[in-house]
Amino acid sequence: MRFSEIYGNEALKARLVRMVDENRLGHALLFVEQEGMGALAFAIALSQYLNCTNRSGGDSCGECSSCRRHAHLTYPDLHFSFPISTSPKLSDSEKKTPICSYFLRDFSALVQENPYFDSHDLYTALGIENKAGAITVAEAKEIANTLSLQPYESQYKIQVIWEPEKMNSDSANKLLKLLEEPPAGTLFLLVTHKIEKMLTTVLSRCQIIRLQPEQRSNMAAILEQKFGIGKEEAMDFATISGGSVGKAFSAVENAGESGQNELLVQEMLEAALSKTLTGVLDVADALASMGKDRQKQWCVIAEGFVRKMFVTSQGLESIAFLNNDEKEFIERMVPRIKETFYSRAADALDAALRLLDSNVSAKLIFADLANRFYLYI
Ligand SMILES: [Zn+2]
Repeated sequence: MRFSEIYGNEALKARLVRMVDENRLGHALLFVEQEGMGALAFAIALSQYLNCTNRSGGDSCGECSSCRRHAHLTYPDLHFSFPISTSPKLSDSEKKTPICSYFLRDFSALVQENPYFDSHDLYTALGIENKAGAITVAEAKEIANTLSLQPYESQYKIQVIWEPEKMNSDSANKLLKLLEEPPAGTLFLLVTHKIEKMLTTVLSRCQIIRLQPEQRSNMAAILEQKFGIGKEEAMDFATISGGSVGKAFSAVENAGESGQNELLVQEMLEAALSKTLTGVLDVADALASMGKDRQKQWCVIAEGFVRKMFVTSQGLESIAFLNNDEKEFIERMVPRIKETFYSRAADALDAALRLLDSNVSAKLIFADLANRFYLYI
């Protein structure tokens, strides 16, 4: 991955290049981003630039032996850790103590296909959908072992950790030890989506690099060029992406699935408004039977939809960015919905999202949510 192949965050490319050129790279960088902004691509491009034997014009060459192996993620001094769980893809002995190297083939196929992936994409690729991935103590030991060895050919042993916030306290403490006394030549490249869940002692050892959301017009231009879609449609997708390239790409690619999610939102609202309790609970059942990540996506989409309804109810339809289907539905519903519904529904969806990360059963969470919609509307 060359810097020039990454979409957006131009200033960051220049900053990373300067850090290498001026020999100012610390031993731990923490990239902070919203999912899909491309921090992993930046980490790989940085390693590629650092090890390229023929750099020029602020980028790696893309052709030397090191660059070619970076492209396939087979460079021997570049290591990856990420959240995992047991998977039917593992052998019986591997299932006892899973570590990331068992999943490396699937991980690298995913990165090569789409470096802007989110955790839902990762878990699907690893065959651990519906489970909560973690970076375990066994993996933290692997990291320590890897870093204790001499690099093969680089000046550095580069350890990428995707979502270090998914370390439990034991593994995070192991990481902290490594950050406090890094073996010579170690470079940590961490990518977090929830900096608030990381140990402050870990944060204090890292140089923090924040990725910026892409401007809507830039994003639309990227989408027009990549997918050959029209300007108006590209602006629609850019609007719902929140400035995340990966979200925008998957919105274009999965227009069908998110459309389905939105239909379920509409179905629940329609049933609630017509006071059909069984209809509301049917939707809740359908949601409860989905995988956890899809359930979370649904909550996010539902929140976005409720926000669009609220904005429309305030006479600000022009900034709700509705497509034709939404416009028809929302204009029909809004005059019949209580003013207080929107904020109460948004709170209920927030609560559901939080509970989905706990051990409460999805059936209960969605039955409760459905009841609230039924009562609040
Ligand atoms: Zn090169």
